[in-house]
Amino acid sequence: MRRYILLFFILTFSFVFSQNQTEGTQLDTDYKPVYYRLEMNLNPYQQDFSGTTTIHFNTTDELSFFRINARPNLNIQSISYHQTTISSYTRANDVLNITLPEMLPAGKLDSISISFSGSSATSTGLTLGQHNGVPIIETIAEPWHGSSWWVCKDDLIDKVTKLDVYVTHPEEFKAASNGMLKSVTSAGNGMSVTHWQHNYAIPVYLVGIAVTNYAEYNNSVVIGGTTVPIINYLYPETMSNWTDNLDQVPSHIEFLSEKFGEYPYKNEKYGHAQWNRGGGMEHSTMSFVGSFSFNLVVHELAHMWFGDKVTCATWHDIWLNEGFADYCTGLMTEFYEGEQDFKSWKSARVQDITSQNGGSVYNPDAESESRTFNSRLTYKKGSMVVHLIRYMMNDDELFYQTFKNWIDDPEFAWGYADTEDLKAFLEAQTGNDWTDYFNDWIYGEGHPIFNILVDKTSGSNELTVHFSQSGSHSSVPYFHTPFEIEFRGSGSQKETRRFEISAQQQSFEVNDLGFNVTSIVPNPGSDVVCKIASSVLNTDELDLDSEIKIYPNPVHSLLNIESGVRIRQIEITDVSGKTVYKKSKINQNQFEVQTRNFPKGIYIIQIKTDKKLQTKKFIKE
Ligand SMILES: [Zn+2]
Repeated sequence: MRRYILLFFILTFSFVFSQNQTEGTQLDTDYKPVYYRLEMNLNPYQQDFSGTTTIHFNTTDELSFFRINARPNLNIQSISYHQTTISSYTRANDVLNITLPEMLPAGKLDSISISFSGSSATSTGLTLGQHNGVPIIETIAEPWHGSSWWVCKDDLIDKVTKLDVYVTHPEEFKAASNGMLKSVTSAGNGMSVTHWQHNYAIPVYLVGIAVTNYAEYNNSVVIGGTTVPIINYLYPETMSNWTDNLDQVPSHIEFLSEKFGEYPYKNEKYGHAQWNRGGGMEHSTMSFVGSFSFNLVVHELAHMWFGDKVTCATWHDIWLNEGFADYCTGLMTEFYEGEQDFKSWKSARVQDITSQNGGSVYNPDAESESRTFNSRLTYKKGSMVVHLIRYMMNDDELFYQTFKNWIDDPEFAWGYADTEDLKAFLEAQTGNDWTDYFNDWIYGEGHPIFNILVDKTSGSNELTVHFSQSGSHSSVPYFHTPFEIEFRGSGSQKETRRFEISAQQQSFEVNDLGFNVTSIVPNPGSDVVCKIASSVLNTDELDLDSEIKIYPNPVHSLLNIESGVRIRQIEITDVSGKTVYKKSKINQNQFEVQTRNFPKGIYIIQIKTDKKLQTKKFIKE
């Protein structure tokens, strides 16, 4: 799902959340659902809706009470079990507790039907809206709104292997949903029944229905010898705006199939249904989207692999859905537009992530919908830590093969996985220990802040690269990461070197560059989420920069600064980036700074003159 949906919920329905503490918590039951038949009466001209859930289930223990989720806004109309009506049930918060007429033994396949009614005015997941004066009904279930519009076991891990959706609606409209369109039949009185059937494992948060006067724009793609229809339901009034973007969808599906394995639902379809929300929702085989922009279309499509086929096990692990889906928009930017655009894509994410000092990719508050779908952390940081896995591997073939294997692993495919599952999987695939990566980048908060000093020995091409790092948040004192610097010469020479950072202070020798380095570019590909507090190339050579001199160096007390032109401002920072001295409006060619009280160590002095800004290093002894 995309974040735009969130604000709407927060503004509109926060009063509902505050009254219910149980959303998103797993309902413990002694049965496993295996099949749902969902019959819905959805008339976009009316607020009221009704429906019947028939659930087939396997008992995992003796069962005398059948418990299932139904949010308080739903009215229970009737409960039918083996052709008899059950009237004995209780309700508490979002749990409906039905007393069965007899105790069921463990290991029994059985079924029950529950009829319900509700209103779009009180459902958090079923919305009535309008486009171009025409009414629309649209549903969302993620993360736990399914049980506000149908009775279901509203959690992530109880996937059923088959779903039938029957929607009764005005005959002038179309109903969109998951799977294959089986039939549209007349129900009399100007109503039709549309039947969709889905034969892949699906959790309830991926079930969606939308009803309005859709126009169809269809397409197809061949995956592994199978022609997969691409069925798009669009608002007729804006359809022509989107057909060019929709024509690219077959190519998107081919790209993701090549990289992460065949499109998971190739025996049914892919498609989109337009809705009134700004963002999208990855209902399996039928994403709902507010627009057909490249990023949104790719994001929801990528969920068919990351989220729909392998589902996050808890809302703590939502980055496994959203981080990967967002990263696929980067991969496809790289594929279609090239390295420069991909770099801009990464750089924009780094900027946004580092705009605040805290926050982890792992979601600590799975009860909070706004934290779960936090754009900066779940999506963008989630995406850039997936990129970091690729960057650490430094081998694209290995990266793609690893995640193709992940999507195909029998332990996770059509099931679910949590963060620790991914850690164990990566360790098994690569033979490396991924503890530091998960502790620093997934569970820990913040990002590294680097001070980089490159010392250049006079008259040679030998460099010493000093890294000094602090974490932006106290939970991670320093980060383990590869880090690259691009070294540039006065000609157009460019060479990139990679350093494995595994300590707060670290130095590396670089003596294999065949040219005189005149400038450095840290993190040239914007691959690492970090801030660069300072980056200095320190040279003792007498060159044009020697018009500014600082002495003595090392210094005990008075540091002299001399310049051929007037000095305007001096600022001195320590290696953590903290300012220890600052003086403005100097307006002299010579200046002295008393350093007697500075702690011993390396300092960076920034001198602003009428002509330039110059950075130098000195040592306090
Ligand atoms: Zn998403």
